[in-house]
This record gives sequence, C-alpha cells and structure tokens, in this order.
Amino acid sequence: MALTSVQSFYSPEDSKAVIELLDKHEDSALIVAGGTFLHGLVSRGLLSGIEALINIQKLGLNKIDISSDAINIGATTLLGQLKNCPEVKEQAWLGAIKDAMEYPPTQIMNSGTVGGSISSSCPFFDFPVSLLALDGNVQAEGSSGSRDIPLEEFFAGLFENSLGSNEFVTGVRIPVPAGSTTSAFIKMETNANDLAIINVAVCLSMSGTGDCEQARVFLGGGVGESPVRSPSAESALVGTKVDEEAIEKAGEAVLNDLDPLSDHRASAEYRKAMGKVLLKRALASAMQRLS
Ligand SMILES: Cc1cc2nc3c(=O)[nH]c(=O)nc-3n(C[C@H](O)[C@H](O)[C@H](O)COP(=O)(O)OP(=O)(O)OC[C@H]3O[C@@H](n4cnc5c(N)ncnc54)[C@H](O)[C@@H]3O)c2cc1C
Repeated sequence: MALTSVQSFYSPEDSKAVIELLDKHEDSALIVAGGTFLHGLVSRGLLSGIEALINIQKLGLNKIDISSDAINIGATTLLGQLKNCPEVKEQAWLGAIKDAMEYPPTQIMNSGTVGGSISSSCPFFDFPVSLLALDGNVQAEGSSGSRDIPLEEFFAGLFENSLGSNEFVTGVRIPVPAGSTTSAFIKMETNANDLAIINVAVCLSMSGTGDCEQARVFLGGGVGESPVRSPSAESALVGTKVDEEAIEKAGEAVLNDLDPLSDHRASAEYRKAMGKVLLKRALASAMQRLS
C-alpha cells in the first residue's frame, strides 16, 4: 500500500504554518507524526485523496511537563518516552497508562506518538482507553485559537474525531486527581503485534475511610466505533470498598453497557464475556496497586 497521490511534503516549524498549510490544502492535507498508522489508514481506503503531508515533528511538541495540577504531554511525545517517564512508572493514579505502554511492540514505542495514537481515532488502540479513564483532555490548535476537548467528546466514530478542518492536536492534558487515586488497564489480544480484541481501563478515587468516591470505567477494542464508558459498572463501585463482592457486581453490571462488534478477531458474545473478566481483573489490579 502506498500514498501514490502525495505531491508535497512539508516540515513547518511552528503551529501557525501548520494551520496555514491545512487551510491551503483543505481535505487533501494530512498531518504526519510518527507515520506508524498511515498504512492502516491507506489499507482501509481512508487516504485516497491525500496530496500533501505535513510533518509536525519540528514543532517542539516532544515533551512531558509535570505540575502540581496536571501532566501535559506534547503531541509528538513518543509512546516510549511516556513509558519511561518516572511519574508514569511510579504513581498509582497513572497505572492505567503504565499498563497500556506494556503492549505496543518496540518499533511502535520508538516511533508512534501520543498525538497520533489519539488522532487516529481507532477504537482498537490501548493508550486512548487508558487516557479516557484518567479523564484526559485533548489540546487542539486551529485558526480560531486553541481549545481543550474532553477526550470523551473528541472521539466521533470509527476513525473520526471532532477536530475542525484546520485544527490539529498539540497535546494531551491529564488533571492530577485529588486524594487517593489508582488506575489500571488490561488488554486481550491474539498475539503481541495485534490490536485489542477488547481492552479495559479503570480509575478509582478512594476516600480516607477506603470508600470509592469516584469510578471511571472504559472499554475499547471492538466494543463499538469508539471506546465505551460503563456507567452501570461505575455505579456498582461507588460507595463500596471495591472488595471482592463489589468487583463481582461491577463485572455483572458492565454487561448492561456492552453491545460489541463481531469481527475476525472475536464474536460479540466472546467480547462481552471477556469484558466482564477483564474488568474484574483491572479492578483487582488497581486496588492492589493502591495498597
Ligand atoms: C504493528 C503495530 C502495533 C501496534 N500496537 C499497538 C498497541 O499494542 N497498543 C496501542 O495502543 N497502539 C498500538 N498501535 C497503534 C500505535 O499506537 C499508533 O500507530 C501510533 O500511536 C500512531 O502514532 P503516529 O505518530 O505514528 O501517527 P501517524 O501514523 O503519524 O498518524 C496517524 C493518524 O493520526 C493523525 N495525526 C497524527 N498526529 C496528529 C496530530 N498531532 N494532530 C492531528 N492529527 C494527527 C494523522 O493525520 C493520521 O491520520 C500499533 C500500531 C502498529 C502499526
């Protein structure tokens, strides 16, 4: 598969130039970061009219800034950099990201970017699901300025997102949660290079007395055209100690919110059954991380 229609390749050095190029070429321009998913889009016939590639690697967006209230991750930060970030390695509340970074092959860790992972809007990727559990925001820039988009509102269907025509992703912002928070992620895959059959990320905020004050539960990997939230599982967890009984109830409850796809990787029934199992494992893993 090749992008045979491409006539121009740009490497602008600031956001303004990127936006001007997006304006100039309209639908025939494509942002490129690591380039690892272009073949995936070409093979699905999604890049047939692309005439200009805009490489954003020279914008200086390859950085992770940590403050007391948020972690800001630049769009061209490599997945491998995220994996090696000390906070991601050590902090329980970032556990879902740490777990998600265990799956991609080394070549992808060394060239795939955070912005590319999100912007692909592929429901089978892992990092976006972990970020949803952590209530992440996408930072976008376009001719009308910059804006933050809650990740839940960013995904708009299979390979579709809510970016405007001359907008691109400059980074991701994850708010630091108050109090005692833990998270975890688990993926089921057919082999080490494959996309998820199903994946689950959870984030739990616990009170000083050990009760769950807030729960966020997201599933991806063929559960829908975008990752899916499970309010039923979250309700089953809030107010409990997230003990064995609560985890069992959350596992039953998640089935209310799942209406997965059937494809060559797995049937809808199998995905549902595994969604329940993976959720219970992710919850146990998050609680173990907290202790
Ligand atoms: C063999 C293989 C294994 C993989 N395994 C995993 C896995 O285990 N877990 C997992 O989560 N993912 C996995 N992936 C997916 C991988 O994470 C993505 O391919 C990667 O993150 C995409 O980033 P990129 O910089 O290469 O994006 P690119 O390929 O450069 O771009 C992908 C898409 O995003 C758009 N884009 C990129 N950056 C921006 C931006 N800043 N603003 C707007 N649009 C943008 C591009 O226009 C394009 O449409 C795998 C991919 C491959 C090929």
